[in-house]
This record gives sequence, structure tokens and C-alpha cells, in this order.
Amino acid sequence: MVPERTVHQMDRSHPDFVQLRSESVRLSTFHDWPSSAGHIVEPRELAAAGLFYTGHADRVQCAFCRGYLRNWRQGDRPVQEHRRHFPDCPLIRGAAAGAESHASSTFTDSTGLLSVAASVTYTSNVRSNFV
Ligand SMILES: [Zn+2]
Repeated sequence: MVPERTVHQMDRSHPDFVQLRSESVRLSTFHDWPSSAGHIVEPRELAAAGLFYTGHADRVQCAFCRGYLRNWRQGDRPVQEHRRHFPDCPLIRGAAAGAESHASSTFTDSTGLLSVAASVTYTSNVRSNFV
């Protein structure tokens, strides 16, 4: 006989956001990630960016800000898309805070808009700390 797999599978219609804070739990939700989407973005990269698979098309959700991302295109980087659409995400803000001295060099996208937005956000944070 073959033992049943005992790996816990997340019930994605009722996601447990506490468990989903763990990257390995997020990665386990990608067991049926469509191969067509897998050619564009890797589950490992999505899970590392705080995202888990909802089970529908290529739609993923953030375990922290609960924002949805979908319609992945070739060349998309999960962390960058996450930051661009949900700049207030606790995970994204936490990551930015950890690298604040390198913020200007970290935020490099082709348009440069991202770095402007990031520095504006950062400046307003600093200001609010002094109110
Ligand atoms: Zn998020």
C-alpha cells in the first residue's frame, strides 16, 4: 500500500492567513499552478513575495495585505508587481524598512516612477514620525 500524503493542503476557499505567513505553506498552495503560468512566473518566486495561489487561473493573493494579483506577463517579477500595486502591504513595507538606506538603489524599474513613489512614501513616513 501507498500511504496518503500527509502534507497539509490549504483550503483555498477558506485561506488561513496566519498559516499563510509561512513561505512553505504558501508554496504548497501552488501544487496545481497551471504550467502555462509556470513558464511566466515560478511558484517559488511568488511564495517568496508573500503570495499564495487562489486556485483560479493565475490569480494569487497576498497573505499579508490580501491584495490580488493576476494576468502575469513574461518578465513580471512578483515582488515588484506586489510593491507597485500594494505599496502599503505590511510585508512590502517591512522589506523596505529593512533596506531603507539602500532604498534608492533597490527601487530600480525601467520608468523610474517606482523610485519616486518609494521615496515620497518614505519621506512622509519620516515626517509623520516627528509630528
Ligand atoms: Zn501584500
